[in-house]
Amino acid sequence: MKQRQEPLIFDLSREGRMGTTLPEVDVPEISIENALPEGGIRKDLPLPSVSELDVIRHFTHLSERQISVDSSFYPLGSCTMKYNPRVNERISRLPGFTSVHPLQPEETVQGALTLMYELERYLAEIAGMDAVSLQPVAGAQGELAGMMVVRAYHQSREDDARTTVLVPDSSHGTNPATAARVGFQIAKIPSNERGTVDIDALKGMLGPNIAGLMLTNPNTLGLFETDVVKICEMVHDAGALLYCDGANMNAILGKARPGDMCFDVMHFNLHKTFSTPHGGGGPGAGPIAVKDFLKPFLPVPVIEKDGNRYWLNYDKPQSIGRLHSFYGNFLVMVKAFAYIRMLGAEGMREVSENAVLNANYIMSKLKDIYPVPYDRYCMHEFVATAKEHKKRGVKALDIAKRLLDMGFHAPTVYFPLIVEEALMIEPTETESKETLDAFIQAMIEIDRESREDPDMVAHAPYNTPITRVDEVGAARKPKLTCFGE
Ligand SMILES: *Cc1c(COP(=O)(O)O)cnc(C)c1O
Repeated sequence: MKQRQEPLIFDLSREGRMGTTLPEVDVPEISIENALPEGGIRKDLPLPSVSELDVIRHFTHLSERQISVDSSFYPLGSCTMKYNPRVNERISRLPGFTSVHPLQPEETVQGALTLMYELERYLAEIAGMDAVSLQPVAGAQGELAGMMVVRAYHQSREDDARTTVLVPDSSHGTNPATAARVGFQIAKIPSNERGTVDIDALKGMLGPNIAGLMLTNPNTLGLFETDVVKICEMVHDAGALLYCDGANMNAILGKARPGDMCFDVMHFNLHKTFSTPHGGGGPGAGPIAVKDFLKPFLPVPVIEKDGNRYWLNYDKPQSIGRLHSFYGNFLVMVKAFAYIRMLGAEGMREVSENAVLNANYIMSKLKDIYPVPYDRYCMHEFVATAKEHKKRGVKALDIAKRLLDMGFHAPTVYFPLIVEEALMIEPTETESKETLDAFIQAMIEIDRESREDPDMVAHAPYNTPITRVDEVGAARKPKLTCFGE
């Protein structure tokens, strides 16, 4: 990676230079001064005067100053940063998909509705659930939708005492946050020494005040909740519902289904499991899936099919309502649809098999130097601890930073909270053995450095465009403009 300091685009500006050639005006010219009211024109608008090539090089250089899934191995646990096949992007750019308008009459968008309806059916099949809504646009919004469905269900039965939602202490932060946003109290269930839900503790917490339990399976330690069926029975016996955080579906595609584990409601992260880009790489999608008895509460509109005709049903009196404008992020759905069709059932099983194999391969090679507190076969990810390294003055954060020097994205650190100096590693199925071996070598190297020169590791990175930054300062006192203070 280059260490060059990139100039601001304004520094490249030269009086009179232009990036475009405008055609000759073929309409009557009016002067802006006459067209706009006094005071409506800025005279001091500082725009750079640059050539097209200057602009292209400038932004290309900027784009190279980061580590992305297209440039490097990206083992960010819990996030499933897998390769986004280019064919998905091609398909989602077909004019038939990009040119439809959400206000077009239903008869003219039958293709788009067919795709959405079929994607719902695929997701329902993969999850072992009965009905799906594609509307939520992030995992967290799917959780919000799911927990609103849980609340609507209890309200429909006039069961108003259910004010508390249970979450394991290993849960993703969005779980308690969304449940709280819906108005529930949160109670935390401790994990046992195997890293899974402590059944006895759960027993003591269940009661007529419990609305539901939010569980991730496999959980955020990358461990399969082997007691899930028992947990489910206990939760249902207490009159509560079981919510599945499906962000970790990459581990179980085609192998196990939340619906069969008797979950009532769940969300997917299409931008994790189904290979659509994340965050800055594109908008997300967090569809939810429910069992039949929760169907009336799904967001509107619901896509219905009569014979060969698809239509949007808004007449759902018990619905939690709308969560997003129109129908969610349609082009993300197109990508997920393409991915599912490309792989088929057999391909998806192989995704999980390889994701789990890759994670276990790295874990088995590293666990002697980076101990794994819950030492069992893992699923798609595992959590190691750097607490021995910390005694030598090298924290999990420092290891993460040093990996950047070696050309790898950092793993997730300090999550889940129940592991001290956590390093959460998720290789995904899309990486070759050579890449995994190179990462393992880098981790071994950093371990050696932490013994020989801990101070050096503690101040990494050195090869990145920006070295160690004050992350707290950046969050608390952000500088959001390049113009002075
Ligand atoms: C990513 C993730 C979420 C939240 O999904 P977003 O799309 O980022 O909102 C929830 N739970 C788990 C376990 C996750 O990994």
